[in-house]
Amino acid sequence: MTATGTQIDVAELQRLARDHLWLHFTRMGAYAGGDVPIIVRGDGCYLEDANGKRYLDALAGLFAVQIGYGFGEEIGEAAAAQMRELPFYTNWSYAHPRAIELAAEVASLAPGDLNRVFFVSGGSEGVETAWKLARQYHSARGERRWKAISRRLAYHGTTLGALSINGVTPLRTPFEPLVPDVVHVRSTNRYHRPPDETEEEFTALLVTELEEAIVQAGPDTVAMVMMEPVQNSGGCFTAPAGYFQGVRALCDEYGILLCADEVITAFGRIGAWFASDRYDIRPDIVTCAKGLSSAYAAIGAVIARDALMEPFLEGKRTFMHGITFGGHPVQAAIALKNIEIMRRERVVENVQANEQVLRDTLSQLLDLPIVGDLRGAGYFWALELVKDKETRETFDNEESESLLRGFISPTMFERGLICRADDRGDPVLQISLPLIAGPKEFDELVGILGDVLAEAGRRIRR
Ligand code: PLP
Repeated sequence: MTATGTQIDVAELQRLARDHLWLHFTRMGAYAGGDVPIIVRGDGCYLEDANGKRYLDALAGLFAVQIGYGFGEEIGEAAAAQMRELPFYTNWSYAHPRAIELAAEVASLAPGDLNRVFFVSGGSEGVETAWKLARQYHSARGERRWKAISRRLAYHGTTLGALSINGVTPLRTPFEPLVPDVVHVRSTNRYHRPPDETEEEFTALLVTELEEAIVQAGPDTVAMVMMEPVQNSGGCFTAPAGYFQGVRALCDEYGILLCADEVITAFGRIGAWFASDRYDIRPDIVTCAKGLSSAYAAIGAVIARDALMEPFLEGKRTFMHGITFGGHPVQAAIALKNIEIMRRERVVENVQANEQVLRDTLSQLLDLPIVGDLRGAGYFWALELVKDKETRETFDNEESESLLRGFISPTMFERGLICRADDRGDPVLQISLPLIAGPKEFDELVGILGDVLAEAGRRIRR
């Protein structure tokens, strides 16, 4: 049955899905003879499929559903009230109350003088907007700077500009040539560094490499450095101590804008409203999306420091950029209600209170020979899987394919767990629970993962 009381014809849905629905980043051929997973409802941290089977969603949608799935009624009322009052108007030259209120709310939560909010429909649009803003900001001040620097393996979205900043090679190559002049530098992956290298040495290496990249590119041609506070792709790479301070100092020295891509990390995932606060990153621009509305609406935001808007307040100058749905009143009403719920339910405080419990619970999995590393922060963690724990040897492409896609992903799903096995870098499992989860969900997660990974380890040794 659906929420509206009608019977679901599962076979018919399967047929229609196979005939008409093109899933994102999906090997559609795999469903020619098998069932498409169809999720029909959710509550709390759980989802249910069309056959009535329940799943613990340890990926929170896609790193997005901070408040879980149980607030549809309350958020729906806010959306319906907005629909009655003003179902749509645009932010092109006009304002409306919800966009104004949401901009003020976001500015109040964002660190420092990040006070100017430009709404978009999602993360990729946010990244596009940030790059365009950086370019036009420099040109408004009489400088022609256009290049961007980001990190290898980092995911920043899929539209052509965002894809160019993206450092995931297999996602880029089918669409080349991309927007020119993005330079990619090393990620902060410490697990495969020499074991005797100190944290300070690693930071120095990374910051030196970044400076060399800036100098090589021509410092006065570089508009922006873009980095996630914790890099998702590759498996939750946190930065070594002093790294972001070193990056900030280089950006200041060479007049480059620093953008923190907080599409995943903002709105509580790292135990703060913005991870830039927790790590004292001091960005000039922040991009955010997913958690802004807990993914109940397609809305994102680019937040700029006051100083970035100054040239745009002069004379006839205009930021030459806009998106029809940017700041959509219904989406803004949903995001406002999400933030209200997050405050009321003390969701960010829940992450702070439970971060160590989650880390300790996940650490139990380090006893398994196949689990080499556990890294992350807040409710954002990755387990790196290895062939040999002593040497940290990783799997080759074929092994990774049969292990992750052939065994771990389908087995987790069969066992009622959704989390992601990712091989964009070395093979990792990504864990990103809704921010309302607690020890009960941690135990269930680790129980299932423990069984699946133990069996995966046995299969490798066979
Ligand atoms: N930036 C980061 C850091 C992301 O993780 C993502 C998506 O996962 C994006 C940008 C792109 O966001 P969207 O899928 O909403 O376009």
